[in-house]
Amino acid sequence: MNETRYDWLTDRWVIFAPNREERPDQFKLNTRAVPSGGIECPFCVGFEHETPHPTLVLPEYDSDATTNNRKSTNDPARNLWKVRVVPNKFPAVPRTCLSDSLEHAMEDPGTCSERVQNRKRSAGQADLSPQASTATLNNSQIFQRRQPRGGHEVIIESPHHVGSITTLAVEHIAVVFEAYRRRLLYWRAQSDIRYAVVFKNFGADAGASLFHSHSQLISLDFVPRDIERIQERLALYLRQFGSCYLCEMIEEEVLRGERVLLETEHFVAICPFASRFPFSFSILPRKHGGSFEEISSEALQDLADVSKRTLSALEAARPFASYNFVLQTSPFQSRQEDSSHWRLRVIPRLSKVAGFEWGSDCFINTTTPELAAAVLREHLK
Ligand SMILES: [Zn+2]
Ligand SMILES: [Zn+2]
Repeated sequence: MNETRYDWLTDRWVIFAPNREERPDQFKLNTRAVPSGGIECPFCVGFEHETPHPTLVLPEYDSDATTNNRKSTNDPARNLWKVRVVPNKFPAVPRTCLSDSLEHAMEDPGTCSERVQNRKRSAGQADLSPQASTATLNNSQIFQRRQPRGGHEVIIESPHHVGSITTLAVEHIAVVFEAYRRRLLYWRAQSDIRYAVVFKNFGADAGASLFHSHSQLISLDFVPRDIERIQERLALYLRQFGSCYLCEMIEEEVLRGERVLLETEHFVAICPFASRFPFSFSILPRKHGGSFEEISSEALQDLADVSKRTLSALEAARPFASYNFVLQTSPFQSRQEDSSHWRLRVIPRLSKVAGFEWGSDCFINTTTPELAAAVLREHLK
């Protein structure tokens, strides 16, 4: 059973998910190139039966026709999907029991009724924080634990067995981002969900276990402490100076230029002034707004283009580098939405977090962002 445990000293929750030990790992034998661990790829077209029923398929087709047609393997539409979103077979956070019929159809009945009971118990409590629902799992004041609620989904980015999102056309990458947008809107509409993070692990050093290009979404019924802290800092800046910290930062970065990778109509990509990791960069919307999921379709196309160009530059500048990207959007139902500004953070895994970092939470970065930006700009197409 998965559970979250609270570390009072650091004010952090840790998710325990022993089930994830069982997931297949194509990178075990070969951490660099195309893995050949003998594991059939469940994300490839033709292997749809290997994954749970999708929560979203893009492009969409007429639902009646699609349902009927899917029964036939000769159905041409079956092979036309670009992006599929499926529940993770080895979830870090189990699916929430919701009234939504699709979710119900996928729930394990035993687990579901248990969660309904837990929900009934916590109904009426104004505070939905993790601390509010710890009573069900034999807690003491020191050792607090609870069952996590939320969801864990995989966004399969292509029907073809490609490893990097940069091999896809810009229009196709826009469909991937559209899938993020729709699933975030879905989770945002669930009353007990407070936050969702969309992320990509590319390469073994970044935590990927399957080669086929994919990203993930984990939704939670609490806001992680670090996210909350950033929201508080942005709100503090707004109160003190009457403006958005990130909007001001973008303006100043564009004026200086030395850390800017590229600028487009809707976005600016920069290597942040105090980056903790070599070659990390952020893609920031010029238009102030806290929620990625409210992005316009025009800006979404632009984001696909900027992502492709900057990630391709990283791949060219540092071949075989693993990286994570993280979509940092506002917590749902946030009171600080006005001060929030979403961004896409790219964190290459070129260095290891070592003893000093663990001991001090202060990072040593061997590459200045000015140098990283200059190198990445050279590799931009
Ligand atoms: Zn594949
Ligand atoms: Zn802003």
